Amino acid sequence: MPVTPSSEMPLSSDEGAGSQSASGGMSGLLTEAWDRIAGRMRAEVGDVEYRTWLQQIVLGPVDGDEVTLMLPTRFLRDWVRSQYGDRLSALWNQEIPAIRRVELQVMRPGDVVAASPAADGEGGASAAPAEVTPAPAARAASAPSDRVSDTRSDLVAPLDQRFTFDTFVVGKPNEFAYACARRVAEKPSSVGFNPLFLYGGVGLGKTHLMHSIGAELIRRGGISVAYMSAEKFMYRFIAAIRSQSTVEFKDHLRSVDVLMIDDLQFLIGKDNTQEEFFHTFNALVDAGRQIVVSADKSPSDLSGLEDRLRTRLGCGMVADIHATTFELRISILEAKATASGVVVPGKVLEFLAHKITTNVRELEGALNRLIAHANLFGRPITLESTQDVLHDILKAHDRRVTIEEIQRKVSEHWNIRLTDMSSARRARAVARPRQVAMYLAKQLTSRSLPEIGRKFGNRDHTTVMHAVSRVQELMERDTAFAEDVELLRRMLES
Ligand code: ADP
Ligand code: MG
Repeated sequence: MPVTPSSEMPLSSDEGAGSQSASGGMSGLLTEAWDRIAGRMRAEVGDVEYRTWLQQIVLGPVDGDEVTLMLPTRFLRDWVRSQYGDRLSALWNQEIPAIRRVELQVMRPGDVVAASPAADGEGGASAAPAEVTPAPAARAASAPSDRVSDTRSDLVAPLDQRFTFDTFVVGKPNEFAYACARRVAEKPSSVGFNPLFLYGGVGLGKTHLMHSIGAELIRRGGISVAYMSAEKFMYRFIAAIRSQSTVEFKDHLRSVDVLMIDDLQFLIGKDNTQEEFFHTFNALVDAGRQIVVSADKSPSDLSGLEDRLRTRLGCGMVADIHATTFELRISILEAKATASGVVVPGKVLEFLAHKITTNVRELEGALNRLIAHANLFGRPITLESTQDVLHDILKAHDRRVTIEEIQRKVSEHWNIRLTDMSSARRARAVARPRQVAMYLAKQLTSRSLPEIGRKFGNRDHTTVMHAVSRVQELMERDTAFAEDVELLRRMLES
């Protein structure tokens, strides 16, 4: 029977971080009340707004007639307080009449809340207090206590329906990984592609690609797919040991056609689970089934993983997802803005793509917040409103590169004198680097064109404008030159 991941819960790829509750005997009651309230809020404000503002609320303790809700940043706390404070109080009061007030607090890094054992059906595998983690979307009904005797579908995490090949934007940094993923989805277990090992930094699309493979296979039908994070794999395995159902666990996993394990680095140092995974892996590959694994590093760099597992992981296709380029970030933002139906000016997209460079998830989060804000107030998005609304995010990404730094790095790179950045010399060997420095100054700082011009020997702002478009043109035509400029940018950004 095909194991079709259920999709009733729009869990994000980082599911599994679901433990949250208030302390004390009332905890179950409170958690349930909170689940219902969060569900109500979500229905009232809509998905986008909910995800942007409310999803990260973590339930804290109750003291007298006051319940505490915690948020990761001051900005979010203030926003939630001003926009949703009254509504949250009213809903709490409806659920539990004894509660009359809602206190909103900023989480401190050291804050802990007791893990709620039933929260994710992990059977108390994490009995120790868990760090505060962002709350997942309001959970549906609470988990049944005898999880392990549940149906097979319990063994797989639901796929996020937003993560498909259609919504994955392809560019240079990810085109190889994308092609491999597509290939596996079209023809699982082909020679040379088994296992498929996807690796890359946080938020670059590994989980998205894995879910896309799953979605595509399920769409085609006739194939059973199991997807889960390595963390979940471990929890399931431990739960199976406790309930003496390891045979079922193994049988189930060894019966699927395609097994996908996300974030394998989690298994480092977890020897028993690694061993179990190794055996499952071998059994499946020997039976001609497909394995897809993701991790944050390549197999050879995953030190701490058992050698024989590492070797086997590297035997199929290893595909690296590289850091995003500016172009890819723009394409992703354009795609997401279009899908949202809200008009986001090109200037704003460029601004975001310059400012938030590390992680697509953060880029997406920033855009979502802008869109939610525009929807909420019915005002068009502008560069100014963007800086306002994203104030906290932008501050965190502010690199504070100075024009002097840019001039210095660029001169060093092309071996010219620093003074030539502001000299009147027009020889190509000098003029070109100067143009690149102007271009980078425009990209990496918030200085205006006239300000930049002044720093380059009092040149006119039209000269800077010309330099920017000239460099852009050259980058399109000359890949070696484009790489040089990108390299400089990365050095300056880091
Ligand atoms: P990872 O698993 O590598 O940490 P994810 O797959 O969870 O990253 O991606 C983080 C977020 O960024 C997701 O919402 C995903 O949809 C989005 N994302 C990443 N890369 C792309 C891309 N190339 N096109 C569209 N969305 C992307
Ligand atoms: Mg992931």
